Amino acid sequence: MTDHLLGVYNRAPITVARGQGVWLTDTQGRSWLDCVSGIATNALGHAHPALVAALTEQAGALWHVSNIFRIPGQEQLADKLAAASFADTVFFTNSGSESVECALKMARKYHAVNGEDARIDVIGFAGSFHGRTYGAINAAGNPAYVEGFGPRLPGYIQLTLDDEAGLARHVARPTTAAVIVEPVQGEGGARALSGEWLQHLRALCTHHGVLLIHDEVQCGMGRTGKLFAHQWFEDAAPDIMALAKALGCGFPVGACLATKEASRGMAPGAHGSTFGGNPLAMAVGNAAFDVIASEATLAHARAMAQAFFTGLDALATRHPDVIHEVRGKGLLIGLKMACDNRAFMALARDHGLLVAGGGDNCVRLLPPLTITADEVTEAVSRLEATCLAARQTLLAPAA
Ligand SMILES: *Cc1c(COP(=O)(O)O)cnc(C)c1O
Repeated sequence: MTDHLLGVYNRAPITVARGQGVWLTDTQGRSWLDCVSGIATNALGHAHPALVAALTEQAGALWHVSNIFRIPGQEQLADKLAAASFADTVFFTNSGSESVECALKMARKYHAVNGEDARIDVIGFAGSFHGRTYGAINAAGNPAYVEGFGPRLPGYIQLTLDDEAGLARHVARPTTAAVIVEPVQGEGGARALSGEWLQHLRALCTHHGVLLIHDEVQCGMGRTGKLFAHQWFEDAAPDIMALAKALGCGFPVGACLATKEASRGMAPGAHGSTFGGNPLAMAVGNAAFDVIASEATLAHARAMAQAFFTGLDALATRHPDVIHEVRGKGLLIGLKMACDNRAFMALARDHGLLVAGGGDNCVRLLPPLTITADEVTEAVSRLEATCLAARQTLLAPAA
């Protein structure tokens, strides 16, 4: 093991070699059923043939130019994203944090060009995750991610999701620019917000001329069984939306989508990116979009989610001393653990299953949308074996 990597990750003791579908194999030939999917990123599993073909073909034609040229793949993918959403315009980035950063800048710029420079405050919620740039950590406000990095940036306000009065009061203030929210909190522990809550927030923002930003970096691109999580509900669409993760299915691609109105301040020179939307990224992004946005893929994801929840609810009933609660939406599934979530993840690994951690002592299951019914059954049975082992080791009274 090298000492030359910055120690910001507690890495699982698996040295990865290759992947196929839902299966991940290490350098010694051992395989795991992968319900991490690069944290909800490999939405079509590992080595999907359409994505491999798109990347390979583009690699021989053109890798990179600059956004000072017209890039056909960008125009195609922007058209597709706009046709499938509330948005009129798209800016391509390389990551979720950059998509969030673009959204935050766009919101303030909108008010500035409207002659309302005082509108700078962005309201975010406890339990959110928006990425690791200064803007993103301040918008989410998770103390663990902001402490030690100097003063908090001005212009960011944190509320709890249940603080209805606080929300109404803050959105009404003449200094508020935007509200940012994940329709389904991912890293915070697979917490799905209700349609009523999202609709209420939408109406409140509209009423006060405040922009609504959805961070669908994790819950978007088919993860919940709709292309975008807010599309489960009428009258809940945002003005600006951040995407990444499954947008490139593992190739780094992000996007910031917006209405024509919300984006009106972003004139030439206002923002930019060297790599964002380069031809390689767009080749993969277009191929991924075509598969993920198809009704067949989304219907399959919904059916597999149903199968998972049925199996997991029964599992939680059999092992209430291990699993407190099953929650989330679609294939963004959270198990709130009664035992230590990190210890449970290690135990699952020993039983051939990879799961992700999450806030609120959760374990997250984020399988590819293409997981089969048999693989869902296999995942639940490996979880059952893990629960039995957890009862013997993690829950055993200290000797
Ligand atoms: C992962 C994530 C981000 C950050 O994405 P990066 O690509 O790691 O910068 C932002 N928001 C949400 C909801 C995420 O899940």
